[in-house]
Amino acid sequence: METRETSKEPLLEVKHVTQAYGRGDRRFVAVKDANISIHEGEFVALLGPSGCGKSTLLRIITGLQQATAGQILYRGERLRGVNPHATIVFQTFALFPWLTVQENVEVALQARGVPAKLRAPRAVELLDTVGLDGFESAYPRELSGGMRQKVGFARALAVEPELLCLDEPFSALDVLSAEALRGELLELWSSGKIPTRAILMVSHNIEEAVFMADRVIVMDKGPGRVTAEMPILLQHPRDRKSYEFLGIVDRIYGLLAGETQPEKVEVGTAPGEPGLTHPLPTIAINDLAGLLERLDEAPGNRADIFRLAGDLGVDSDHLLRVTEAAELLGLVAVAAGDITLTPLGQTFADASILARKEIFATRIRRLPIFRWAIDLLVASEDHQLRWDFFLRILELEFPVDEAERQLDTMVNWGRYAEVLAYDDDTEVVRLEAGLAGAGGAAGAGRNSEGKGAKGEA
Ligand code: ADP
Ligand code: MG
Repeated sequence: METRETSKEPLLEVKHVTQAYGRGDRRFVAVKDANISIHEGEFVALLGPSGCGKSTLLRIITGLQQATAGQILYRGERLRGVNPHATIVFQTFALFPWLTVQENVEVALQARGVPAKLRAPRAVELLDTVGLDGFESAYPRELSGGMRQKVGFARALAVEPELLCLDEPFSALDVLSAEALRGELLELWSSGKIPTRAILMVSHNIEEAVFMADRVIVMDKGPGRVTAEMPILLQHPRDRKSYEFLGIVDRIYGLLAGETQPEKVEVGTAPGEPGLTHPLPTIAINDLAGLLERLDEAPGNRADIFRLAGDLGVDSDHLLRVTEAAELLGLVAVAAGDITLTPLGQTFADASILARKEIFATRIRRLPIFRWAIDLLVASEDHQLRWDFFLRILELEFPVDEAERQLDTMVNWGRYAEVLAYDDDTEVVRLEAGLAGAGGAAGAGRNSEGKGAKGEA
C-alpha cells in the first residue's frame, strides 16, 4: 500500500476547544483546551481512557455539538452548524430493521439529496465497495455484527465525506470480524476508492491505533485533554509482531499510563475540598490482585505495561485502570511504560487473604474520598448514612453517572477491606463495627466541616 500525500494546510483545526457539561455547582469540564490539526491524506487515531472526552470531541468536530469555548476550522473557515463534509461511524450502527440492506443505504443517499433514480445503483455500488455484494435484499437481522457495521460504513460513505470520523468502530465486533473490517477499511482508504481525504478514528485499543494510523493523539482525563502526539511512520502492511511495532505500542502505553506522581498529587483532595477529587478507577479487586501476582513473578518485579495486557488477556483500557488503582494505593510505581511492584505491593502479593484485606484497608483510608466518607460516618448517628446522602455530595464533584460509579467503587472497595458495610434493602452505608470507636479511622482527626456544609447546599 502506498502512503498518501499530505497537504500543508490543515483540513481540520481544533482550536482551544473546551466543553463543559452541566451548570453551576454541577458544571463539569469534559474537554479542556484541546488543540488538534488534521491534514489531507492523514489517518489519525485519538486514544485515551473512557470518559476523557473522545466522543465529545468527535461530535464537536463534525458540528453535531457546539463547544463551550474555542472553535473548529474546516479548510481554514470557521465551522458553524453541522459539517456537511464530515460524518461519523459509531460503535454500533442504528439500522432501520424494517428496511433491507440496500434501502438502509438509500435512505442516506436520499437524505443527501441524491435523485431517486440514481439511488439504487449508487447503493449497490457502495455495498460492493464495503464487500456486501449479494446482501442487498437481506434484512439487518439476517446479518452478523460485522456485516451490519459494514452497512454502517456504506451509509457513512454514501455521504462521500472528506473527513471520515470513526467512534470505536470495531469495539462491538468479535475479534475476527473486527480484524477483517480493519483490513478492508485500510484497503479502501489507501487504494483511493473512496473520496475521503482524512480519517479520524477514536479508539481505546492501542494496537489497533498503531496498526492503522499515521499519527496517534493521546488524551487523558480529569479534565479531558490532549497530552501527547506521536507519528507512526511504519510502512503498511504493518507487522504487529515486529520490533518497531511493539516499540511504538510500548511508548504509547507509557504515554497513557503516565508517571507515578508524589502521593499527594496521586490521591488528590476529598469531595468538598478545593482541588481535584481524584476519581477511583472502577476495577474489581481480583484484577488488582491478579496484576500484583503477575508482577511478583516477573524478573525484578517489573514489566512492560503493554506486555501485561497480552499476558493477562485484558484490553488496554482495562489494564490502565487497574494500573491506576495500584498506583493510587502505592502498590506499584509507573515510569516510562514500565510498572514496578513497590515493597508494599510485594508484601500484598505474598500475603494471605486476611493480610491482604488489612493492607488494602490501611491504604484506602489514606485516600481522601475514603477519609471523607469515614469522617462523615464517624460523626453521624449510629455510624451510618444513606447511600443517597453520599451520592448527592459526589454529584457536586462528578457527572451524575460518574458519581454513581464512584460510590459503587468506594463501597465495593470498602466492603472488601471490611471498612464499610452496605445494606441493599435499607440502602444504608455503615462503618464496620470496631472502626467507629477508633475515631481517627480517617487518620489524624481531620475536620470535615467544609465538606458537610457543601453537602447540605
Ligand atoms: P469518551 O468518548 O472518551 O469515553 P465522552 O466524550 O463520551 O468520553 O464523555 C466525556 C465525559 O463527559 C464523561 O464523563 C461523560 O460522562 C460526560 N458527558 C458526555 N456527554 C455528556 C452530556 N451530554 N451531558 C453530560 N455529561 C456528558
Ligand atoms: Mg466514547
